[in-house]
Amino acid sequence: MTDTRTIQRLDSAHFLHPFTDHKALAEHGARVMVKGEGIYLWDSEGNKILDGMSGLWCVNIGYGRTSMSDAVYRQMQQLPFYNSFFNTTNVPAVQLAALLVQVSPPQFNHVFFTGSGSEANDTIVRMVRRYWELQAQPERHIIISRKNAYHGSTIAGASLGGMAGMHAQGGPGVPGIVHIGQPSYLEGGAGMSEDEFGIAAAGWLDERIRELGPDNVAAFIGEPVQGAGGVIIPPKTYWPEIQRICDKYGILLVADEVICGFGRLGSWFGSELMGIKPDLIAFAKGVTSGYIPLGGVLVGDRVATVLTEKGGDFNHGFTYSGHPVACAAALENIRILIDEDLVGKVARDTGPYLKEKFGALREHALVGHADSCGFVAGLNLVHTKGATVFDNIVFDGDDGVGMICRGYMFANGIIMRAVGDRMIIAPPLVMTRDEIDEMVGRIRAALDDTL
Ligand code: PLP
Repeated sequence: MTDTRTIQRLDSAHFLHPFTDHKALAEHGARVMVKGEGIYLWDSEGNKILDGMSGLWCVNIGYGRTSMSDAVYRQMQQLPFYNSFFNTTNVPAVQLAALLVQVSPPQFNHVFFTGSGSEANDTIVRMVRRYWELQAQPERHIIISRKNAYHGSTIAGASLGGMAGMHAQGGPGVPGIVHIGQPSYLEGGAGMSEDEFGIAAAGWLDERIRELGPDNVAAFIGEPVQGAGGVIIPPKTYWPEIQRICDKYGILLVADEVICGFGRLGSWFGSELMGIKPDLIAFAKGVTSGYIPLGGVLVGDRVATVLTEKGGDFNHGFTYSGHPVACAAALENIRILIDEDLVGKVARDTGPYLKEKFGALREHALVGHADSCGFVAGLNLVHTKGATVFDNIVFDGDDGVGMICRGYMFANGIIMRAVGDRMIIAPPLVMTRDEIDEMVGRIRAALDDTL
């Protein structure tokens, strides 16, 4: 039952995968991953593949950490589960909440646990609205998000997100959520400097708040660097201007750090790097490096004070909120991030090195633009070298030359993700300079094959 063909046959007969065209999958069969070590994966055919995506932006500490499996094993033997409802708690959840408060920006002293990033954003929708109800301003219910944002797959997550393909399916989303443009200089910045564009793109928030009436707007949500939308790195003027606008109207600022949290950008949280002070932060992925599912919301003092002092019951929560085994995994994961100074390494050493080496791919005939921020990076495939990237860029989902290029990437032993014509990476934070050289070499070879 472990040979590749049998697994593929059972897979396509019974396993409905997320975000997958099953008719197409049945034709070629899924790739079966069987092992991970460091930054590498092995499939059932014995191929060794460099994982340029950290799984799904999450395996920050790399694969195969036995101290993680030991921590999980010990907790499973001690207490595999108990809920945190009805005046009970458990030791790992309390320890993790206290540790998260230590590593997060100073305005955060409370944590709400969930099982995933989508549930974290669902929680945020309900928490933001509850906050304004408790402030006797229930008309403040509208949440402003951005086109091409990804905030998850629950109904609230998909509604908050700005993915046209998701809005087109599943019927009406959650009411009271509106979207403004994304701060993509390549898409919208022609004729402006990057700094000018950053201010202009933040200005779309001001315009929309005025159209909606400031007294109706509850919050703005954004990923510090948009991930699944194609690694959209905003101009440095963008986020401080967004903060200024939120402050001007008194609306809550929410950072979705499901990707950017826990070192991905070379800072513990992306909002610190962007110079903003959000009221709420959604987290997941890197909190356990994906070894066990866990997510949550860091709740800033402005909201926590109102919830805890005026709130009564917040009628919201999940069976697995504060799951002891997931929290034990997160404690060990954060210990590794701290002891190995992985965040500092990305900030000072490997992040700048990646910027230099990945940036040099700009010279390739197929590449119009290449940029990075910490350990996320993306390049634009262009059809005609010499044409401006403004002419070439296509943000139209998973088709086009990106998908062809993605196939060549795999053939060259590297996993890279395609978003339209943009090829993106988010490698494990443990990646060394030598491994960056190897990764960029494989990307270059795959680009040559795509030409
Ligand atoms: N928010 C962001 C920024 C994400 O990238 C993701 C997942 O990729 C989510 C939320 C949803 O997280 P999950 O898949 O754990 O529900």
